[in-house]
Amino acid sequence: MRIIVLLTSSTCSFLSAPCSCMSFNPETRRLSIGLDNGTISEFILSEDYNKMTPVKNYQAHQSRVTMILFVLELEWVLSTGQDKQFAWHCSESGQRLGGYRTSAVASGLQFDVETRHVFIGDHSGQVTILKLEQENCTLVTTFRGHTGGVTALCWDPVQRVLFSGSSDHSVIMWDIGGRKGTAIELQGHNDKIQALSYAQHTRQLISCGSDGGIVIWNMDVERQETPEWLDSDSCQKCDQPFFWNFKQMWDSRKIGLRQHHCRKCGKAVCGKCSSKRSSIPLMGFEFEVRVCDSCHEAITDEERAPTATFHDSKHNIVHVHFDATRGWLLTSGTDKVIKLWDMTPVVS
Ligand SMILES: [Zn+2]
Ligand SMILES: [Zn+2]
Repeated sequence: MRIIVLLTSSTCSFLSAPCSCMSFNPETRRLSIGLDNGTISEFILSEDYNKMTPVKNYQAHQSRVTMILFVLELEWVLSTGQDKQFAWHCSESGQRLGGYRTSAVASGLQFDVETRHVFIGDHSGQVTILKLEQENCTLVTTFRGHTGGVTALCWDPVQRVLFSGSSDHSVIMWDIGGRKGTAIELQGHNDKIQALSYAQHTRQLISCGSDGGIVIWNMDVERQETPEWLDSDSCQKCDQPFFWNFKQMWDSRKIGLRQHHCRKCGKAVCGKCSSKRSSIPLMGFEFEVRVCDSCHEAITDEERAPTATFHDSKHNIVHVHFDATRGWLLTSGTDKVIKLWDMTPVVS
């Protein structure tokens, strides 16, 4: 991975309020910009990209636009705002077609053109799935799996898999196409996930975090779900009582122990029976986690082989864009620097 160019950000004088998000469609050269005051401003870029012509404004939200998505096939502009509203507008007439109130401010927005499902990830950690019609929508389901707010969403329309990144440092892969309700957690960051991108041709997920880490996940690998944590009043290995188990403590005159859980088998174990750590890449744990002693012995070196590669972008990434045709990744950071990376050595 090599850096190609560095650009510093500049302000745009066209806009009535600070820009909060944007969406660019290369085919129509349409640039939709969400603003701090709730407006979406639309521009058409000239062929040489040297001129921007204002087209129209949508009064989409009461306050800051948080996410924006232009769907060329349906001529829809989808957006979410600080006002906790999801809205969609007709990009031809500029008319508002409908809206939906989300449980919290949205910070992830993806759309499946084929089935017209929209995925909205919000600050409560929930992902809401709506089916959109021309002028109304119905709630399909909600996904709850994160312990922190959703910060990014990414949809793979081919495998029909949704990836959600969160401030809880994890990415969850929701396998919708598999129809088995599988949700796999990917643990490879030390700080909150800021952006996700998917390279369809190589089946690699790119996740970027506040820690500056860029992790490239091989999604061809068959991963397993993490087990449910088992409940027990005593260690499921050595049978010593946990500290709340007063009866057994009294009967056997033993001191109660703290309960831990083995990440591989889910058993409730004491600290002594789970003193070792291991990475379990096939369960999404790229970092070392607590495992019980018997699981530690059972995990082979082959199973410990990483299924992701780790890179340091050396800035706090807030936004990424991946250009699959050239294999370039654009990252912009809180340091006001935009970096362009040649990903071809690692995404191939
Ligand atoms: Zn034990
Ligand atoms: Zn175990």
